[in-house]
Amino acid sequence: MSPAALPPDIVVLERGWLSSNNILLLGSEQTALVDSGYGTHAALTLSLVQAQLASRPLDLLINTHLHSDHCGGNATLQATYPALRTHIPPGLAPAVRAWDEEALSYTPTGQFCPRFSYQQLLTPGHTIHLGGRDWEIHAAPGHDPDSVILFQPELRILISADALWGNGFGVVFPEIEGTSAFHEVGQTLDLIESLRPSLVIPGHGPVLHDVQGALDYARQRLDLFTTDPVRHARYAAKVLLKFKLLELQQITLRDLRLWARATSYFSLLQSRHFAGVNFENWLDDLIQDLIRSGAAQAVDIAGEPGLLNH
Ligand SMILES: [Zn+2]
Repeated sequence: MSPAALPPDIVVLERGWLSSNNILLLGSEQTALVDSGYGTHAALTLSLVQAQLASRPLDLLINTHLHSDHCGGNATLQATYPALRTHIPPGLAPAVRAWDEEALSYTPTGQFCPRFSYQQLLTPGHTIHLGGRDWEIHAAPGHDPDSVILFQPELRILISADALWGNGFGVVFPEIEGTSAFHEVGQTLDLIESLRPSLVIPGHGPVLHDVQGALDYARQRLDLFTTDPVRHARYAAKVLLKFKLLELQQITLRDLRLWARATSYFSLLQSRHFAGVNFENWLDDLIQDLIRSGAAQAVDIAGEPGLLNH
């Protein structure tokens, strides 16, 4: 059996880990984009979208969830396409209206997202017409309590956001705040399996053709985290550090320590899971881990010790 392929009206702009993938749905009557990447990449996101749309406008913008790497291009797209209608999951709608950067996670993660507005909600259980096709909206809590995933039942294509990747799933953010959510991650993986997608467009990384393989791997990782939550806490802290490094490309250790000190998720993770270790030592140990694994390189920045993204 030949592997399922994407039809030409569904275009995946595969980005990196700082920016989420962007998925363009091109109908004859309507165009839609799912997720818009990180704020520092907004100009690139716009040019990638414009290159696909040519002279057509973008009609709908959909955010699977409101993490900074999924909606950082919203403001630029809204300014470029004045008639654009933006749809977000309902959970954080009041926070978007008030632009509450604490509730939106931008302050506690030490990330940034240009302010945007929305017009409509993506209500789980409903269907939305995107491009030329109907997509089911499913709640997908776990990585983010308010995330949705989108399923196209005729083609059996799933847009999985950060609920399922080729190498697991995104950091389970509620766990950082002390809210148990590993169980929800498992339920969302069960939901994905029950939809029997023929292929999955994840929030990061290439399109998944071996969906069962990805689910099996994700469940293995979930088991590891569930039996050893400290392992997840350590992973979450390293992801936040690596994300900052991806954003800045290089930073002195002094500035990185200052940033981590001011970023509340680090103090939360440290006090909850590593309370016996001094904060600076804990951070330095994480940094050494990033260097050892090849995710960062130790460098001199104008005579000061620093880190280079690698
Ligand atoms: Zn996310």
